[in-house]
Amino acid sequence: MVADKPADNANEKNDKLDVLKSTQTVVKKALDKLGYPNEVYELMKEPVRMMTVRIPVRMDNDQIKIFTGYRSQHNDAVGPTKGGVRFHPNVSEKEVKALSIWMSLKAGIVDLPYGGGKGGIVCDPREMSFRELEGVSRGYVRAISQIVGPTKDIPAPDVFTNSQIMAWMMDEYSRIDEFNNPGFITGKPLVLGGSHGRETATAKGVTICIEEAAKKKGINVEGARVVVQGFGNAGSFLAKFMHDKGAKVVGISDAYGGLHDPDGLDIDYLLDRRDSFGTVTNLFNNTITNEELLELDCDILVPAAIENQITEENAHNIKANIVVEAANGPTTLEATRILSERGILLVPDVLASSGGVTVSYFEWVQNNQGYYWTEEEVEEKLHNVIVKGFDNVYRTSETRRVDMRLAAYMVGVRKMAEASRFRGWI
Ligand code: GLU
Repeated sequence: MVADKPADNANEKNDKLDVLKSTQTVVKKALDKLGYPNEVYELMKEPVRMMTVRIPVRMDNDQIKIFTGYRSQHNDAVGPTKGGVRFHPNVSEKEVKALSIWMSLKAGIVDLPYGGGKGGIVCDPREMSFRELEGVSRGYVRAISQIVGPTKDIPAPDVFTNSQIMAWMMDEYSRIDEFNNPGFITGKPLVLGGSHGRETATAKGVTICIEEAAKKKGINVEGARVVVQGFGNAGSFLAKFMHDKGAKVVGISDAYGGLHDPDGLDIDYLLDRRDSFGTVTNLFNNTITNEELLELDCDILVPAAIENQITEENAHNIKANIVVEAANGPTTLEATRILSERGILLVPDVLASSGGVTVSYFEWVQNNQGYYWTEEEVEEKLHNVIVKGFDNVYRTSETRRVDMRLAAYMVGVRKMAEASRFRGWI
């Protein structure tokens, strides 16, 4: 009997880090709180459609390598599904499923006419040439072409994918479809029908959430000490925006380590030196670990990297008053509970990182109408959408006396549940 114990503990720990399980747990709680019957949860706990594909690519050494890819479509009751494609060695079926549920929630929170989708390819773009990346990108689109399209499911960038990859994918889809089809994908370069403000949209959305959260906590953003974990698309632009607003960015990190300066880091210099995968700490000797970075003394902490960074092991040591999740899934449920009990205001991922998909929606609208907006128009519209989403979630959290994550899920599932009901699915 005693021998069973470690295995039990290990299982319990794995369960806590299982992003699909924890997402399902909160979806269930949200639906229960809203009074929906169990069949609504039965529909929503898994994607309505999940495709696994094998993508053969001729590599630079002339050998064929087979990559595995996924596309998950969580729920298309509200409208076509929408969400990014991630290129990463740790991509798994479970992760892609969870990410697609989060996309449904984001669309619900900021009230977009979409359901959630997500894709991923198991690969490491840091070790691939430009030509190999193009092969994988085009091969993925050929493999999933039947289930995607501007009125079915619209991909976009995510971890380690960018506007060049979107351009190749759009070109491949347009060839298959035999006409120029920019609305098939978002996050494209401007010259191919991209939108002003899309590249910085996630960071802008996070910035707006930080400002709203700071007001609630009586913190002045100007002069506030900010720590940002991750220096990719979201983290690097966010550090820049915070710096420009007069905040003191005292810590940043990438996958290999972190930098700390209590007087504030030189963000412009770091931005200038980072590579396209967001790596910059390799240029310095005096680094700290990512674990140490999260526990730095600061007012605002922004995990902008990967999943499961704040856990029950370090949640007690977080010093920030506000935690804003720019990454998807950086805080476990146990840690969410601990932070909330400690009076730390947590702005959950499904709200904080919804700026990206919001401007993707704007891009798709512009593609559909063939008329393009100025950067100012995009920024103003984004601001209104995020402030409204934040208010809705914050108010729900206050009136229903639930933590911000559960409140966000409650706001996020409602429209999808109603649409599924009207369609007669449940
Ligand atoms: N990958 C981003 C996200 O997780 C953006 C998705 C999109 O623009 O559709 O929200």
